[in-house]
Amino acid sequence: MDEYDSTGEGRAARRDEAVRAAVEQGLLGPDSPVVGLLDVTGIRESAAELRAAFDEVTAPGTPVLHAFAVKAAPLVPVLRLLREEGIGAEVASPGELALARAAGLPPALTVLDSPAKTPAELREALALGIAVNADNPQELDRIDALMRSAVSRSPLGIRVNPQIGGGSIGSTSTATATSKFGVALRDEGAREWVVRAFLDRPWLSRLHAHTGSQGIPLSLMIQGVAETYTLAEEINRSIGRPQIDTIDIGGGLPVNFASDVTAPTYREYARALREAVPGLFDGRYGLVTEFGRSLLAKHGTIVARVEYAKSAGGRPVAVTHAGVQVATRTVYVPGSWPLRITAYDGKGRPKSGPEVVQDVAGPACFAGDLLAEGRALPLLEQGDHAAALDTGAYYFAHHYAYNSLARPGIYGFVPDPQAGGVRFATVRDPQTIASIVAESGGAHVGALTTLHAPGSH
Ligand SMILES: *Cc1c(COP(=O)(O)O)cnc(C)c1O
Repeated sequence: MDEYDSTGEGRAARRDEAVRAAVEQGLLGPDSPVVGLLDVTGIRESAAELRAAFDEVTAPGTPVLHAFAVKAAPLVPVLRLLREEGIGAEVASPGELALARAAGLPPALTVLDSPAKTPAELREALALGIAVNADNPQELDRIDALMRSAVSRSPLGIRVNPQIGGGSIGSTSTATATSKFGVALRDEGAREWVVRAFLDRPWLSRLHAHTGSQGIPLSLMIQGVAETYTLAEEINRSIGRPQIDTIDIGGGLPVNFASDVTAPTYREYARALREAVPGLFDGRYGLVTEFGRSLLAKHGTIVARVEYAKSAGGRPVAVTHAGVQVATRTVYVPGSWPLRITAYDGKGRPKSGPEVVQDVAGPACFAGDLLAEGRALPLLEQGDHAAALDTGAYYFAHHYAYNSLARPGIYGFVPDPQAGGVRFATVRDPQTIASIVAESGGAHVGALTTLHAPGSH
């Protein structure tokens, strides 16, 4: 197989074509001033690269399930596309499970994690035969009760936190000493409790760890997997049989937001893992992975019209239609989540010209609603477009309803060599104003004025 194009040059060229075509075909214009675009070709390439990377390092016949972390891009057509590319789903709420089912994902390709599963969620998952990783002893009690009352085909495991420390972004570091996730392995008595839990329950067959996401160095991720593997070996030794048959290594591969280059690649991670933990790949264990951001981030682009271009205190400011509602993390924590911005003209063609330090602002009514502050770009003018790159995960699919700003439409695209252009498909319709009113209690307009204590009035 060809080595994956990690330079991203092909992707950048497709993106430019798609922006131009979105303007030309009217997806983006004065009345629909912000859209999300998804590069279908790129998503397929990343999925294939992920599968190839692990195929190369695992013993022949090793069962490997790549379960896409649905929270990274909770869009039914995306889940269906990934399914077609051989990728399952990791879900963490009733809504995410429903999305996976709507996309046609079978239970065998679905994994349920979440720190707050209700009895009803657990019952449904076990009835369907979906894999579940218990987060804590109380959850395991609930699973015990369900296992006594009905048979289940669900592969069941325990999530552990190897407590190896965090990365550069606190909010996405899940393996700190006090993280809310999983059984904190280094706490007193915890390791012994986990070993005992497996000894007492012959149906427990998996161990799960997800040591964090963006900002975690590769070496720390690898250490987390290594410690989980060591624990599995210890448990199987003390039971005297390979009761743990699958290790779920989580997701978390960081994404390079600084250029089009994919770094690190899945191949680099898989090879480094095999180097550090060879026993995990010798065929005794099946594998589950749960990548989210690294599968989708680089394949999404937010494109917004510049409504006004102004100047304040000597600083040019482009007021666009993309801000906190589509780039929430970047607006609130710009230091941890900077985004690349590119400038396009009114026809969607890349803008050239001297770079000018300017602010790229969003439409929301608070001063901090900036996509980029003091960024050097060709000067954005009224009617131009600003694109926020690498926003395919945790951005436009994660709408934040500030100022009742409408959810933008999301469109997938592929190059169309015949027409010499680009073909689009709707992934999600733009939200209508009527739906904003309905979702904001429109059906209950008099609810509060007609609510009285008995006897008053
Ligand atoms: C969020 C999450 C993932 C995906 O993380 P990425 O950084 O998007 O790859 C995987 N597993 C679990 C349990 C998660 O919470």
